[in-house]
Amino acid sequence: MHDGWFEEDTTHGPVRVDTFDESRPHEGKVLGIVQAHADDMPLCSGGLVAKLVAEGYKAFIIQTTNDEKCGPGSSGDAIKSNEVDVDALASSLGIEEVFNLGYRNHRQEENSMLEQRCRLIFLFRHLQVDTLMSFHPWAKWEENPDHYITGQLVESACWMAGMGKDYPEQVQAGMKPHGVRDKYYWVMRPGSPYNHVTDISPFLDEKIASMSTNKSQGPAGAHGRRMKESLAKQGLKLPAFGDDEEEADRAYIRLFGLEEHKRMGEPYDLEYAEYHYYFPPGGSFPYHDTAGKIEAYVKQNAVKL
Ligand SMILES: [Zn+2]
Repeated sequence: MHDGWFEEDTTHGPVRVDTFDESRPHEGKVLGIVQAHADDMPLCSGGLVAKLVAEGYKAFIIQTTNDEKCGPGSSGDAIKSNEVDVDALASSLGIEEVFNLGYRNHRQEENSMLEQRCRLIFLFRHLQVDTLMSFHPWAKWEENPDHYITGQLVESACWMAGMGKDYPEQVQAGMKPHGVRDKYYWVMRPGSPYNHVTDISPFLDEKIASMSTNKSQGPAGAHGRRMKESLAKQGLKLPAFGDDEEEADRAYIRLFGLEEHKRMGEPYDLEYAEYHYYFPPGGSFPYHDTAGKIEAYVKQNAVKL
């Protein structure tokens, strides 16, 4: 049992509502965020990441694909503009660094699983990742191979990073094996399981700023400025859209881009929420206190030779 996490025999356990803790309970811990595309994390977790950074985490983004299919202009243009967006995303949430693995977008089936896992383990050890955020590899209705393949690779790399016999040359080269302790999985499609509800209301500005960095693609990004421009052609303007393009983009997100997060908040009396599937320390198995039981058994039953 983990403080009530596995009280129900379901795939997701009881739901916990998580609110901001100003005492910086995560000081010194490292959060690794593995996304396939520029818009994955901001849409699913911009609020939770802002909260975790404010609670003391140092955060890093690892991006598996090059986003070549999504964005303006040629494929080369799309790669470049998404790279710029992800750097801006990192700045908007106080993230330390971005690592681009550069695999081709929508073609995760062709890439070597072993090479990708090795690269993830290398980075998890290099960064000494404590907490991981990524795709739920077994979530319902997932149609994007970049999502479910990245999710599967992350899931295996999380525990193998702690085992010195996996890629022992990394250990010989001076890296310390370090297993990931806990994980947040994204809820990307309706019906995906969740057991963790974050109150993102205190971090709404950061959530909006993170979504707004995604200019190249997705449902956020540059919609506000486009709407402002098209209204101007008709001789109209929306006062809420402000005076510059960035203000218009953020106003658009605030007004129309957060409906899903409002819906998520309703059952828990929160104005805005994000859902995640959280694996607590101790992992994905409902371990019982076997160590304590063994110790007690030995104490009670061991006799002199
Ligand atoms: Zn994606």
